[in-house]
This record gives sequence, structure tokens and C-alpha cells, in this order.
Amino acid sequence: MSPLRLDGHGASRGTALGRARVRMPLTQDVAEKRIAAGAVDAELQRLHQAIESARTEMRELRQRLQGALPAEAGEFLDLHAMLLDDPELLLALDERIRSQRYSAAYALRVQRDTLAKVFEGMEDDYLRSRLDDLDHVISRINAFLHERPANVKGLAGEILVCENIAPSELAQLQSQGVVGIVTSAGSPLSHSAILARSLHLPLVVGASGALRRIHDGAVLILDGSSGEVTVEPGADDLRQYRQRQRELAREQRELGHLRSKPTRTRDGVDITLLANAESPEDVAQAHALGAHGLGLYRTEFLFLQRNGLPDEDEQFRHYRDAVLGMSGYPVTIRILDLGADKADRNGLVAGHEENPALGLRGIRLLRAHPRVADTQLRALLRASGYGPVRILLPMVSAREEILAFKRRVARLTAALRAEGHALAEQVALGAMIEVPAAAIALPGFIDQVDFLSVGTNDLVQYLLAADRNNEAVGELYSPLHPAVLQLLAQVIDTAHRHGTPLSVCGEIAGDPRMAPLLLALGLNAFSLHPGTLLEVRRTIRDCDHAGLRARADKLLQARDRRGIERWIAETAPSAP
Ligand code: PEP
Ligand code: MG
Repeated sequence: MSPLRLDGHGASRGTALGRARVRMPLTQDVAEKRIAAGAVDAELQRLHQAIESARTEMRELRQRLQGALPAEAGEFLDLHAMLLDDPELLLALDERIRSQRYSAAYALRVQRDTLAKVFEGMEDDYLRSRLDDLDHVISRINAFLHERPANVKGLAGEILVCENIAPSELAQLQSQGVVGIVTSAGSPLSHSAILARSLHLPLVVGASGALRRIHDGAVLILDGSSGEVTVEPGADDLRQYRQRQRELAREQRELGHLRSKPTRTRDGVDITLLANAESPEDVAQAHALGAHGLGLYRTEFLFLQRNGLPDEDEQFRHYRDAVLGMSGYPVTIRILDLGADKADRNGLVAGHEENPALGLRGIRLLRAHPRVADTQLRALLRASGYGPVRILLPMVSAREEILAFKRRVARLTAALRAEGHALAEQVALGAMIEVPAAAIALPGFIDQVDFLSVGTNDLVQYLLAADRNNEAVGELYSPLHPAVLQLLAQVIDTAHRHGTPLSVCGEIAGDPRMAPLLLALGLNAFSLHPGTLLEVRRTIRDCDHAGLRARADKLLQARDRRGIERWIAETAPSAP
């Protein structure tokens, strides 16, 4: 019998072979189920065993990772262990099974909802955000309630199969040994996908039916490029898997030759490749691959995977090290862009917005938390004493926001200088162009910024009214729309006319297939994750710049996605 294959979208490259760890979504209706009076004791025992297994798992994990985890991750685990011993949770569960004869899974569900109401009603933001921890613990108990082969323990060598994954979970999962992730929902442009790429953790998203069709403990092969998931692979699949790994290694070796080569088109036009980074590892990789600087350092990941906010000194050291890591190249650090799908554990992000993508995120959220903004800005300004720092503002929609921010920078600069800090003479300030209003109104505020960075991930979502995380509108969410290309061309043009440096830092810049299109629109600086930097460099080196510019009109006349795709196919460079 041939193995089952599921098709999703490749969201983070690399292949993985491992056992499936199926995590059912908590919100998935655990149907109300009552058990027979005679089954109560057995059900209680089953629940207690699951809780005990979750406890043991937590203890073992804590021991295994002793010393290897940052302090905050250790705190998570302690907190989870505490919740597993919480009498309120445990007694109420027993009671529900005994008196109401609920199944263990349903009792967990009901108890979770009861506690969730208590958490949500809390005044204290920090305590309110502990709901995430409660959910995590309940999902671990749930996993043990579902049948698993007795010899399957921990997460090492496992592929997590779940409905969706939050950015805040990824690093922890990887440190627990997870080798890949398959989600039934989600999109390759979500922040989780971006972070998975940064962590080099293979990820397939939108594999519909994965939760129904993949059994816990089944062996999987996951291909993070093609999006294919093979369930219980046969001998041929395993051979192909090894072959694919050899190919990937060969490709990486070949690309390695481009490390020290310039990013220059065939007709001699130099293009700037900047790197997107989320971690010190990304910075090191960007430097090693010859990036001309960092075009986007996403600072939110410093805030996400922890309890408690990083203080000024910790942030300062982090930013300073990124600056030192790029040895003299400009380092563009984006101020905190939390909100929407990037919820934190500290309660900065309100959990109850109806439309979080249109709500308090990015620069708006920071205006609501001026102390958090000041702390970060002070740290950034102090880092500017060690090399060229550029500050980037996310989610700008109006000139007033930039003016207010500049006043804040001026005030903090003066205060830091008075305290004796050696700051750079000038710190460049730039705006993300990711809200359509900012793209359209750019001529009205371009005089206020030193550089621009186009965030196509959000620009596409807001321009096309298609959520970047929602698989149901995944078809609509695409940069290959005439409105997107026209607006992009207009923004690039405005920047060139004003002599303002501009790069594109959305995921489109890291897709080698998109490079000819972006060159045709006049883009001369790309900011992309180091993971695809060499591939994009290879494509650009194969392009004829003048030829592409001459075809820009034809591209901008395309009336639909098919027309744009045809243009891309006709224009794909062939190696000389
Ligand atoms: C973007 O929106 O294109 C972008 C680069 O920012 P983020 O993906 O972090 O929202
Ligand atoms: Mg964005």
C-alpha cells in the first residue's frame, strides 16, 4: 500500500524525518461526553496517569536542559510544573468526572474554560497573560490522554502536527528537540513562518486534514520546500529522502562559491543585499555571507519568548552586539512591532481586540506604552556609539506619527548625552511602508525620513484586505496583484526622485523567483533572510538589468495574476 501524502505549503525549507506528535487544538470541540457510572474510576485513573506523565515529562525536560536554557525558558517550565500541581485545577477535574460523569477530555475542556474566564477577568496584565501557560499545560495532559505508544517520550526527533503555531513557542520547541512542524492552518507569510526560517526549523503550513489523518506516533517525512508530508514512508520514500538531503547539501556547497562574489547584474549594475535578522545567529550568518548591512532587525523576538520585559541594559547589549557583529555596516533596528499575531507573555498586547491586525500594533502599541518605547529607544541610541545604527518605525500611517517619534528621539538623545553616553552624531530614522495610506501619502512625509523600507508582507495584507495568517484567503493574499505592483512601483519611484534610500524587506525580497520582477520595478536594495541570500544573489547575477527595466511597462500593464505570472515566466533569466 502506498503511503499517505498530504500537500501543504512549504514555509521553512529543509527536510525532516521523525515521529508525529499530534497536538489537538484546545478550541476544537471536545464533544460533551458522559461516561457510565462503572467507568468513573477507570477514567479518573486515566486522567491521573496523564497528569503524572505530563509532570514527569516536565521534570525530565528541565533536567535534560539544565544549564542549556536561558533563565526565562527555565522559568516557563517551572511555572508549568506548578500549574500541574495546582489543587484548584486537579480537584475540580476529579469532581467533574465523579459527579457529572464527564469524560476526562471533556472535564479538562470545561475546567479550562472556567479558569480562562477567571484569568481573562484579571486586572493585572501579567496574570491575565498566564492563560497561555494554562493552555500549554492542558494541551500536554491532553496529549497524554490520547493514546501514544508507551515507548514514545519527550519531543526529541519529533515532528509536531498541530492546527497553528505561535511565534513564541518555536524556540522552545526546537530546544526540546522538535525537528519539524506541520500545521493544518497558517500561512507561509505569518510571523511564525518567518521565525521558523530564521531558526532553520522545517515547517509545512496549510496541510489541511493533517490533524485528522496523521496519527500520533506515525513516522513522517516533511519537505519544507514543496510542502509535501509523507505519512509512514516506504523504502522508496526513505531512499528519496536521503537523496534529497544529499542534493540540498550539494546545492549549499555550490552556492557557497558566491559568498565573496558581488551582487552585480550581467550588465554591471550593483544591487545592495541587506539582511533580515531576528537573532544573533542571523547576524553572524549575514556577515559571513557578505550582506551589506542589516535592513531589518526584528526586535520583537527578544520580547516574545520570555516572561518579563528585557530592561535597558539587556537590550543595549543585544543591539550593541548586532552592531558589532556587522563590523561597520549599517544595522537597521526596527522598534518593537508587537501586536496582531505577535502576542507577548507580558500583557503588552491586549488580548481582546476584535480586529488585532487593525488594532494596537507596532508604533501604535508603543504610543500606548511610552515607558516601554523609551527604554528601547535609549538602548538603541546607546548602541549607536558602537557603529551605524538606523532606527526603523513599523506600521507608520501618518506624518504626525513620525514627527512625534522624532521629538521623542530628540528628548532621549539630549538626556543620554547629559548622562555622559557617547552616542553617534546622527542616527538615521526610517519608516516602514506597509500601510497603504503611508504608501500613497509618501510624498507628504518623505522629507521627514532618512530611508524607507517596504514591508510587503503587511502591505499586501492591508491593500488586498486578506489576512496574512488565514489560509482561507491564502489564494487572495499574494503580491502578484496589479494593485500591489503599481503601488510598489510608485513608492520606489517617489523614493528615487527624492534621493531617499529604499529597500524592500518583506518576504518577497527573499524569493529568487521575484528578483527579476523587483529589479524591473527599479528596486536596487533587497533586505532578506540570510537563508536565501546566496540564491537571490545568484539570480540577480544572471539578470540583465537594462532588459528588465525596459519590460517594466509590460509588467505594470498586466491586468491579473495570470498576466503577471506570464511576465515572470517569460522573463526568468537563463544562465549565460
Ligand atoms: C512586512 O510586513 O513586510 C515586514 C517585513 O514586517 P513583519 O513581517 O515583521 O510584519
Ligand atoms: Mg510588517
